Amino acid sequence: MNFHGMKVAERSIRNYLSGRVFMARDGNEDLIIADHVPGFRGRVLEEGVIAAALNHENACVLRKLFPFTAPGRVLGKERSFGLGDRLGIATAGHIKVFEKYDAFPVFAQQSMRELNLTGRTYEEVLDAASFAVFRAGFTKTWGADGDHLKTAENIEYALSLGYSMITLDCSDYIRPFAENAAPPLNAAYKEKYTGKKFDIDSEHGITIDFSEDDLKSITGIYGEAINFAVEMYNRFLKDGKYEADFEISIDETSNPTSPREHYFIARELRDAKVDFKTLAPRFCGEFQKGIDYIGDLNQFKKEIKIHAAIARHFNYKLSIHSGSDKFSVFPIIAEETRCSFHTKTAGTNWLVAMKLVSQKDPSLYREIHRFALSVFDEAKKYYHVTGDPSKIPGLDSLEDAELPSLFDNDAARQLIHITYGLILSSKNRNGIFTYRERLYKLWNEYAEDYEEALEEHIGRHLDLLGVTKQRGEK
Ligand SMILES: [Zn+2]
Repeated sequence: MNFHGMKVAERSIRNYLSGRVFMARDGNEDLIIADHVPGFRGRVLEEGVIAAALNHENACVLRKLFPFTAPGRVLGKERSFGLGDRLGIATAGHIKVFEKYDAFPVFAQQSMRELNLTGRTYEEVLDAASFAVFRAGFTKTWGADGDHLKTAENIEYALSLGYSMITLDCSDYIRPFAENAAPPLNAAYKEKYTGKKFDIDSEHGITIDFSEDDLKSITGIYGEAINFAVEMYNRFLKDGKYEADFEISIDETSNPTSPREHYFIARELRDAKVDFKTLAPRFCGEFQKGIDYIGDLNQFKKEIKIHAAIARHFNYKLSIHSGSDKFSVFPIIAEETRCSFHTKTAGTNWLVAMKLVSQKDPSLYREIHRFALSVFDEAKKYYHVTGDPSKIPGLDSLEDAELPSLFDNDAARQLIHITYGLILSSKNRNGIFTYRERLYKLWNEYAEDYEEALEEHIGRHLDLLGVTKQRGEK
């Protein structure tokens, strides 16, 4: 269907009062067509008909008129899944996945680190998701996550835009434990926790107990983090000040969270009436970016069993961060959480986009790959990876058709994974982006291929996480 020479996205057509709104493609640009519907600002096509650009102002109008294009709260659902779309182009593919699977997506999900590295704003991240949802006519609830936020200012920034979820990153308040510097144990804690067995899961006989030394160490490491979480919750979310879900993240530390620590944190937060829907512990082993789990699967199974029991006991879900490509642990997560979880992915969507580049424009891919090798050490400042660039096959040894196979190589995956910010922001001497525009042009041209690749790749995540292909709210 055509309208004024533009190709109409048929699934986007919505009636509003006596008019209608839809999306149409003008050359390489998508536009909102407001046909006798007020509010949008843009070029007049004919009397009462506006072609509105996909900017923040028009996104706000869209979200007001059509609430399904605004984020909603999904963390309380049985299964939710975060999709950090760093490029602002992945949601169309993600929608195809979540139209089928019985889980709720968080389409907009970025941390401050990602915003800084990609040069995007929370407005842009949210708007990209809203437009994609509108274009596809996706009416299921989807979330927007202010991910890994560490300050009140950033939390307020995300909430004021309507983000439906805040992931509080407590890592700045988690202290290394120094036995000799530990203050004497608070008498109230001693009374509350010592000499008792806390029954977590009677069916499996899981209990938690605390010695005085345990308590000293736990309060020393996590005391301030707990206070910080209580303070942020009370300030922004208590009594529905903002309508958003709250996730506690303690995963960005070097030491795995012990079940005892997990229990203590959850108990203190619940006793302080903090309504958090999810908590992300630091699991044993390594959840490195863009590659499978590194570690002992039996140990992981043993530990997540207790973490999942604690989460059930206090009525929240475990949140699994850095979930991109953790295929070997997904079945364990599915089993031990009884298929009730939040899982976050981000970098894998970028890797799928870069694999597409290697397939469609080998010479551009080669250029970028060489650049990535040259900045790998700098990129390692932002992300912890152990991938060794010397294990990446040399570019000169690969035929063009073999380039996509680099994405089966862990070291190569990590190379491309962590250099995204430098690749996207690299500029030549004249201040012109070296790769950014060429990349977006390619992704625009091959948008359908990207959608299909994402559908397959994220679908594989959900399959292994035991999510069935059904619809339905729960
Ligand atoms: Zn995390």
